[in-house]
Amino acid sequence: MEEERENGAHCLIVPYPITGHINPMLQFAKRLSHKRVRVTLALTEFLLKTTTFSAASVSLRPISDGFDDGGRAHAKTSDEYFARFQETGRQTLSELIRELSGSGRVVDCVVYDPFIPWVLDVAKGAGLQAAAFFTQSCAVDNIYHQAYAGELRLPLSGGEVEVPGLPAMKPDEMPSFIYVHGSYPGPFRMILDQFRNLGRADWIFINTFRELEEEVLQYWMTRIGRVRAVGPTIPSIYLDKRLQDDKEYGLTIFKPMSNICMEWLNQRQPRSVVYVSFGSLAELTVDQIEELACALTTCGKHFLWVIRKSEESKFPAKLLAPMGLVVSWCDQLEVLAHEAVGCFVTHCGWNSTLEALSLGVPIVAMPQWTDQSCNAKFVVDVWGSGVRARPNEKGLVRREEIIGCVESVMEGKFISSNATKWKEIARAAVDEGGTSDKNIEEFVSALKILKATTNK
Ligand code: UDP
Repeated sequence: MEEERENGAHCLIVPYPITGHINPMLQFAKRLSHKRVRVTLALTEFLLKTTTFSAASVSLRPISDGFDDGGRAHAKTSDEYFARFQETGRQTLSELIRELSGSGRVVDCVVYDPFIPWVLDVAKGAGLQAAAFFTQSCAVDNIYHQAYAGELRLPLSGGEVEVPGLPAMKPDEMPSFIYVHGSYPGPFRMILDQFRNLGRADWIFINTFRELEEEVLQYWMTRIGRVRAVGPTIPSIYLDKRLQDDKEYGLTIFKPMSNICMEWLNQRQPRSVVYVSFGSLAELTVDQIEELACALTTCGKHFLWVIRKSEESKFPAKLLAPMGLVVSWCDQLEVLAHEAVGCFVTHCGWNSTLEALSLGVPIVAMPQWTDQSCNAKFVVDVWGSGVRARPNEKGLVRREEIIGCVESVMEGKFISSNATKWKEIARAAVDEGGTSDKNIEEFVSALKILKATTNK
């Protein structure tokens, strides 16, 4: 098998260098490797220096974003970061492709993150096939594409928003970059730029699964073409168990406090714990953290709350109660898979949403920004696997609202039985012959034919 991989097709995978984009693309890389494709993951020098990597089936190589010593935090603005990454990234990626070719590991296809569309230009410049890999939901990609094409007029005006392929949505159920027009001009330009050269991509992959987003996937297929759902990209142990030793994503940016979490959860009753996390980027206000802390300490349930080190100073230490465990980071999959966890209070980042669906954990949605409001809309109104904790007119989700949502999710039967149903469907999608597995298989077969043709 190893020999077959050595002589087989070779994919170079290039994610945008943040947790929520690396995790799904790395997981896709492992699926390809399992199907005997050789894979190399390109990560920035800064991440290579500051993270630990444990995915044995994937080789790791550096490119540069121009901030080798400090990463994104050392750029003054997002525009400065994107510009420098583009300039230095183009050059170092071209060098990497040449170097791999020179050492007998010719790259056949570049799988790139559309947040960095210049990777597609580099791949095409080198005469390679290229596959875009969208790490957000198809619904969100579709909305952004409509905005890019000028078919969704901004700023929004009036009541419900009609977007082809999607249910009618209230303005605040759209991504925040759309409904708070002008809120983050730099990131929003990057989001729209995903589509500038997409027509040149040979394949378009999305981290979703057909059963979850059937209508919008079908719409995108007719509108854009070449679209394939390949998710959920969750370590295999939690789904089909076909990949050996695939228990975690394999790239650690924040150190998880796994033992503490597991020991604590092991002492709790099944479905009794509220798990709270807002992912790797979201910054809550001091007032919002206080409301959450009050809700959790008064609702009478055990809770496990992730507060990243950068958010720690906002935490009201006096409110810590014996019912709670607060950690700076955990292995979220391990936590969600634990039988003691009964609900997930989440910002609805796309990975967290897919993880909750795949592990059958009902959601209390507290979206903060970007695509999260749209993910929350689908969780509540389309997939029926959670409830939305609504903010007041000042944008603050009050403690009574949070308590009410946690109680309705943990005590109601309807939402938890929907959550369990999604768990089964997600597993089936990636299992042998499942809808996503077939799409990955189709790509692998095309790569084999490509390799055989170029070897002639
Ligand atoms: N995560 C984790 N431990 C934590 C919190 C988050 O491992 O304590 C992981 C989570 O499993 C997910 C990723 O971090 O894979 C967060 O991605 P998501 O898209 O949900 O949110 P983002 O961080 O991009 O806002």
